[in-house]
Amino acid sequence: MTQKATRIAALKAMLGDDLVLAGEDIARYCRDWHGDVISDALAVLRPRTTEDVSACVRATNSLGVSLVPQGGNTGLVLGGIPDEPAHQVIISLERMNRIRMLDTDDFSAVVEAGAVLGSFKDKVEEAGLFFPLALGAQGSCQIGGNVSTNAGGINVLRYGMTRELVLGLEVVLPDGSIFDGLSTLRKDNRGIDLKQLFIGAEGTLGIVTAVAVKLMPKPSQVATALLGLKSLEDAIALYRRARHDCCDLMSAFEFMPPLAFTLAREAMPDLAMPLSGENPAYVLMEISGSGLVDIDDLMQRFLEGALNDGLVIDGVIASSNSHARNLWLFREGMNEGQAKRGPHLRTDVSVPLSKLPAFVRDAETAVMASLPDCLCVSYGHIGDGNVHLNVLPPSHLPRAEKDQRIYLAKNIINEVVDAFGGSISAEHGIGRLKRPDFEARLPDVQRQLLTAIKTAIDPNSDMNRGCQLNFASTIP
Ligand code: FAD
Repeated sequence: MTQKATRIAALKAMLGDDLVLAGEDIARYCRDWHGDVISDALAVLRPRTTEDVSACVRATNSLGVSLVPQGGNTGLVLGGIPDEPAHQVIISLERMNRIRMLDTDDFSAVVEAGAVLGSFKDKVEEAGLFFPLALGAQGSCQIGGNVSTNAGGINVLRYGMTRELVLGLEVVLPDGSIFDGLSTLRKDNRGIDLKQLFIGAEGTLGIVTAVAVKLMPKPSQVATALLGLKSLEDAIALYRRARHDCCDLMSAFEFMPPLAFTLAREAMPDLAMPLSGENPAYVLMEISGSGLVDIDDLMQRFLEGALNDGLVIDGVIASSNSHARNLWLFREGMNEGQAKRGPHLRTDVSVPLSKLPAFVRDAETAVMASLPDCLCVSYGHIGDGNVHLNVLPPSHLPRAEKDQRIYLAKNIINEVVDAFGGSISAEHGIGRLKRPDFEARLPDVQRQLLTAIKTAIDPNSDMNRGCQLNFASTIP
């Protein structure tokens, strides 16, 4: 028997056939969301309970192979895909998807890591409450993946990143022991808050098996508007004004270029154009609330003022839920439209809000100066200073030439990010894709701290080796 076959047989003997998937059946776990990267693994483990996860960890430890946790596999930085397939086993949380508790009086819930975000949100809404994390991948991504990447999304400006929604965690540690921190207390200052270590750790410190989260009142009124503007500068001015004028009820503020409509319609040809003319810039804005406020009136009055002052030059307020959904499809369809054009650079960077227009101008100018045949597409959650400045090589080029342009564009943009004091990863994490750029920018003290934490919790680097940092490893 080959070493691979021996290891698979050993895993099945220790864990039973039901938990261990091998052979052709594992292909779908081994490719990234865009299909740009195809990898492999020794096997995929699919636990049903926290105790199963613990058993999986002990079994793989005994064989000296490392684990790559995987949720919905929608991550955009290759954190959940093996890069050493001969020595790595994927552990998928997809079968751990129960809501263990939902307490409408306490505004809290405990949900297993493999629950799909969109399904969980639906269940919470059926109970009359609201879980505000919202992102384009919510039909597939899982709560455990959201926690492990500290996901952002469209509602961050109102409700914060995932970290701010987490009350407690259950985590299986690299030695198989279980960290039980599933408290739903709002206030708990008993020393260092250990759960924070695992949020955004991308599975490098343990496997999140369940999460206690905050729930919010369900917004009974939502007003959505698509607005045409003269420039990105005006979009920032409009955002600031909305922060002051909309009583902190603004829940989304997304920036899109005119190209958004072309890209979205390449993915969804039936989408009807929402505005007749073309404007240099667009904002998709949402205000929402529950209780006694009149959200429609607030949106009307806010936009009247912005139109009178020339900050907004065109726009439409959604007249129904389906109209609002249609407007959002342009924002979401942009990603699919870009994916259809083939391999391209996807960045996820942030700079201080006031510097955002200058950053986009400088970065796009620098890219176009070096790569004039490429197309820049800048859009995103600009209320958070977060922009996806993507670069699309000409579709007719051979793959190697596309990859070369992607690499060059990434370096150019990262240099501009550095010059603006920004972050090369605003919300997607580091994974394997951004590791070299992350490591190259890591100050010594931060590196020492990260290494000390990793060594204390995962001394053999068994957990998602190769993700985030290239920690010294004792694995053969
Ligand atoms: P995976 O992709 O499976 O894994 C991501 C990382 O977390 C990996 O390192 C993996 O090892 C680790 N991990 C997964 N589950 C666990 C677990 N239970 N325990 C420990 N580690 C684990 N992200 C945003 O932040 N904001 C957005 O607006 C956004 N929009 C997106 C839109 C689209 C169309 C797509 C495809 C992606 C988008 N993303 C966005 C990225 C992605 O959806 C998020 O990073 C998401 O949180 C990943 O969840 P997942 O379950 O798919 O995790």
